[in-house]
Amino acid sequence: MLSRRTMWRRPFQRVMGGDSALSKVKKVKAIRIREEWCKGCGLCVEVCPKHVLVMNRFKATVADLDACIVCCRCEDICPDFCLEVIPEDFDQQE
Ligand code: SF4
Ligand code: SF4
Repeated sequence: MLSRRTMWRRPFQRVMGGDSALSKVKKVKAIRIREEWCKGCGLCVEVCPKHVLVMNRFKATVADLDACIVCCRCEDICPDFCLEVIPEDFDQQE
């Protein structure tokens, strides 16, 4: 299941222009991956425009966090809700 935070943030990001508007001003604090849920499909790796994610032993993992532009494409595409992208200013959003 999506976290409450993710459910709240997605519509807001879409209204604001999704990965075009917010991604230019946001930085990432962390990307959480629930490895036990990951089935290794690799969709998140394919969709990431900045090559932040890689596959490691059939699990998605973060390779270059600093490159993340918080577009949340990985979150959106994961069929098993494994990923959570946490913006740097997340605490101020709540
Ligand atoms: S939010 Fe996800 S898809 Fe977008 S740059 Fe960061 S890791 Fe890649
Ligand atoms: S899209 Fe989800 S299930 Fe597929 S590799 Fe990425 S984290 Fe794992």
